[in-house]
Amino acid sequence: MATIRTAVRVEGVVQGVGFRPFVHALATGLGLTGLVGNDLDGVFAEVEGPAAAVSEFLRRLERDAPPLARIERVTATAVAPRRSAEFVIAASDAGSGVRRTLVSADTATCADCLRELGDPADRRHRYPFINCTNCGPRFTIVRDVPYDRSLTTMAPFAMCERCAAEYHDPADRRFHAQPTCCPACGPRLTLDDATDPLQAAAELLRHGRVLAVKGLGGYHLAADAACEPAVAALRRRKHREDKPFAVMAADLAAAAELAEVDATAADLLTSPARPIVLLPRRPGAAVAPATAPGNRQLGIMLPYTPLHHLLLAAVARPIVLTSGNVSDEPIAYRDDEAGETLKDIADAFLTHDRAIHVRTDDSVTRTFRGRPMLVRRSRGYVPEPITTSTAFPRPVLACGAELKNTFCLARGRHAFVSHHIGDLENAETLRSFTEGIEHFRRLFDIDPRVVAYDLHPEYLSTKYALELDGVELQGVQHHHAHVASCLADNGHGVEAGPVIGVAFDGTGYGPDGTIWGGEFLAAGLAAFERGGHLAPVPMPGGAAAIRQPWRMAAAYVADPEVARRHPDQWPAVIAMAARGVNSPLTSSAGRLFDAAAALLGVRDSINYEGQAAIELEQLADPGEAGVYPARVEAGSPFRICGSDLLHAVIEDRTNRVPAPVIAARFHHGVAALIEAGCLLMRERHGLGTVALSGGVFQNLLLLNAVVGRLEAGGFRVLLHGRVPCNDGGISLGQAVIAASRS
Ligand code: ZN
Ligand code: ZN
Ligand code: FE
Repeated sequence: MATIRTAVRVEGVVQGVGFRPFVHALATGLGLTGLVGNDLDGVFAEVEGPAAAVSEFLRRLERDAPPLARIERVTATAVAPRRSAEFVIAASDAGSGVRRTLVSADTATCADCLRELGDPADRRHRYPFINCTNCGPRFTIVRDVPYDRSLTTMAPFAMCERCAAEYHDPADRRFHAQPTCCPACGPRLTLDDATDPLQAAAELLRHGRVLAVKGLGGYHLAADAACEPAVAALRRRKHREDKPFAVMAADLAAAAELAEVDATAADLLTSPARPIVLLPRRPGAAVAPATAPGNRQLGIMLPYTPLHHLLLAAVARPIVLTSGNVSDEPIAYRDDEAGETLKDIADAFLTHDRAIHVRTDDSVTRTFRGRPMLVRRSRGYVPEPITTSTAFPRPVLACGAELKNTFCLARGRHAFVSHHIGDLENAETLRSFTEGIEHFRRLFDIDPRVVAYDLHPEYLSTKYALELDGVELQGVQHHHAHVASCLADNGHGVEAGPVIGVAFDGTGYGPDGTIWGGEFLAAGLAAFERGGHLAPVPMPGGAAAIRQPWRMAAAYVADPEVARRHPDQWPAVIAMAARGVNSPLTSSAGRLFDAAAALLGVRDSINYEGQAAIELEQLADPGEAGVYPARVEAGSPFRICGSDLLHAVIEDRTNRVPAPVIAARFHHGVAALIEAGCLLMRERHGLGTVALSGGVFQNLLLLNAVVGRLEAGGFRVLLHGRVPCNDGGISLGQAVIAASRS
């Protein structure tokens, strides 16, 4: 029988850990010889044997690939036979100068491991650190590349004989599973000196105590989600006034008792990434009011580590699980730091001795019209690259924005958008930012030649970029980056023509010295033109106007009701706005929502970003379809009078129209003005595709109304999916813009 040899190249296997063993098993099962390995561009294999077996190999390669392997492309070419006698797995090529290995995202406990976890006969029965090639910690434990146990935080744990045997057996589920371990050789769970830490933890939670729990990417704080005193105590001690807490439910059925879970949401909840999913809360759901005060939504996630599975089973009810920090500080992830910062919040610590190398927050998602949308892309997704349709000609670092910062390192067709770094406004987050960049550079062997940054001179990410030597610097306008991010998210490359970019958000530096945020751009990747925007208003007091939405109401309209609530400050604020003292001009859509919220008495001051707009959305009557009109001043750029909507709000309020109706009409008014802006852009620029980006589009009531109007008007609408529409997506946009210019 003819022996043929075929070289196979499999591209885009970013979750490479389980892939080489799979290829090994497949090849040996078919009696083929050869080798499998990985290099800079992915996994390669050479197989040799009877022609029929080789083609069967190729067929099964794609069909039966392990659950975590994401294959972009398989190419096969004939090569000369080598007559090798066996099939081998080539060692990681650390010596070849190629440092990149395929570090995957942290992955929820797989079904096989769960079965063993619950099997009294298994040696890992109830072991909180069980994992295998298909699941477990990855990104959060990797200290350096190549991805090998010695370079992870599992290094201090010497494998016992049985674990080592599994680790070295290509036929075993734990072959080359770097974090593999067992009760005899792996990490240990502790809660003070309790003999059964899990039972002790469950007892404490059931008695209304607050528990610190060490997770994958940091410490969480936990409390019984149905126990108001416990959740209220957690809120008080954490100094978190209103921002909602997430809840962990044991399984889909438990989640469905708390919120409406449709098929898309169920897929997200049970996906290997196990993000928090924001869901419509069921009326009467057994959740303490302090969990998500005044919110129709509930953030729910399912257990993603064996520890979570065991804990939820022991507590037997949903728990609040929120990041272990005080107020707006980053989540604590080192044991000493957690012990210090959480000691006054937590009544006890459920912890262990496997170190976390990279602080990684839970990811947050939601669904819109049957598709998932990332709100915060972090644990479970990072560091998987976003594949771009155009290759980066030179390696790029994009430094992101200020709030919800992420950075992005890119080369080839891969953009590695970082985990959520947070708001770059203290030393700790700045350290995460700079160390994170160094870490990614090593992990993915990227030495950036081009560095992109936001035009805002005061952003710490901008200052970081401007201090770098020997690189090409590319300043990128904030809202151009938003729109480019949406284009890249949708797989549009350099060759795609310009689109209408609608960037509605809170704050972004405009090249004209004003603060932008209600923008209609004719934008491609390389360049943009500002076609129109919301008419600018002063922000009295600058940043104070962001914290106190009533100031924005005052800047827009002289409303006696708002004036009456702030008699002492009102005259000064009005004078400040009129004279332009400490009152930068802004076209921000976020500030327009703030003003409406204040006029309706929803909120005069906020304690987390976007709070007033979020509460206004919550208030709105979903059944109301009325629309407030807004004038368009048809200059170039055109200006849309957001103040018209606010005058309509006041008029309806005076006529005692219920606030939920007014809130809805305001939302539909914003949607209508976006449609009007897009129609004008189409007329003037001949463009038919609209990309929607910016944090304002996290508002689903608005987004739904906008998409409905635009699609009815014959526009093609691009939305975010893989990266957030908020500033967490900025770094990706900066990266593709910088690449297209260089
Ligand atoms: Zn597993
Ligand atoms: Zn062991
Ligand atoms: Fe923004």
